[in-house]
Amino acid sequence: MGKEKSTRRDFIKRSSVIGAGLFTMASAKAEVLQQIFSNEPGEKIIDIHQHTNYGDRSDAALLAHQKTMGAAYTILLPAGHPVSMGSTHYGVSNGLQVRATANEACYQLAQQHKEHYFFGANEVPDAPGAVKEIEKYLKLGACVIGELKFNVDCDSKEMQAIYKLAQDYEVPVLMHFQYKMYTWGLERLHKMLRKYKKVNFIGHAQTWWANIDKDHTNQNVLYPKGKVTPGGITDMLLTKYDNVYGDLSAGSGLAALTRDEDFTRSFLNRHQDKLLYGSDCLDTEGTGKACTGWQAIQALKRLVPDKNAERKLFFDNSNKLFRLKL
Ligand SMILES: [Zn+2]
Ligand SMILES: [Zn+2]
Repeated sequence: MGKEKSTRRDFIKRSSVIGAGLFTMASAKAEVLQQIFSNEPGEKIIDIHQHTNYGDRSDAALLAHQKTMGAAYTILLPAGHPVSMGSTHYGVSNGLQVRATANEACYQLAQQHKEHYFFGANEVPDAPGAVKEIEKYLKLGACVIGELKFNVDCDSKEMQAIYKLAQDYEVPVLMHFQYKMYTWGLERLHKMLRKYKKVNFIGHAQTWWANIDKDHTNQNVLYPKGKVTPGGITDMLLTKYDNVYGDLSAGSGLAALTRDEDFTRSFLNRHQDKLLYGSDCLDTEGTGKACTGWQAIQALKRLVPDKNAERKLFFDNSNKLFRLKL
């Protein structure tokens, strides 16, 4: 990234030095300005949530999807390695239940596209050697641990070993919350937020987003619809704790954004420093009705309070949190 950045900076610097002379050449100036703005990282989108071999989608189709959707930068989140254990529902949940591949696949694809792709580190938390495996990829430059989507308690000793590792390597953890299925105990997460103050926790998926609503009482409903009463668990965690963030990806994120647009406007305004754009969709289109990632981009653009907040959700928050140095 460094090389591209310095080239771009030099170009902007040179352009401003010679800028005075261009005032006499209106069309040339307009062209230079347009080049500067089209190179401006401020207009680009970071997608924090994609997977390799997602529903058997090829790498080429993934790259094309990201391009069409408009993601300039993408973080690839690995699955754990396939094992038959309770934590993977005896294999049912291997590959994040979507045939996603593990650390080496994400690392390799990111290596092949260093300018635009980043990678996470992951493993089934209670599989033998899990911490070592995750640490191996943190040493190689993984910018996050996740996607943690396993049949374990959020405060289990295995998950806590992962939080300790995240603390040592100063990377966030990204967790899929799904009632009685993955990362159990959202109602106890606040204890982990206090115990691991230096770790940034990113919440994702159905149970995370259903609980923006204070009146969400039946946790078996994973995609609630209609009006939202502020003050649900998720809303409160984002308000109360500095070290918690929301990953807006997937059908669950999109449903939360679009179920009550008046609520969403205030939610995006209040939590504009804590929300992160992600897609997490497995289509090949990258646009239109088939693509929830594209739809979320449109919804966010429509519902953000202002341009500054929009840039935070699409770029600045993630650039800072994952220390991407873009
Ligand atoms: Zn995912
Ligand atoms: Zn898509």
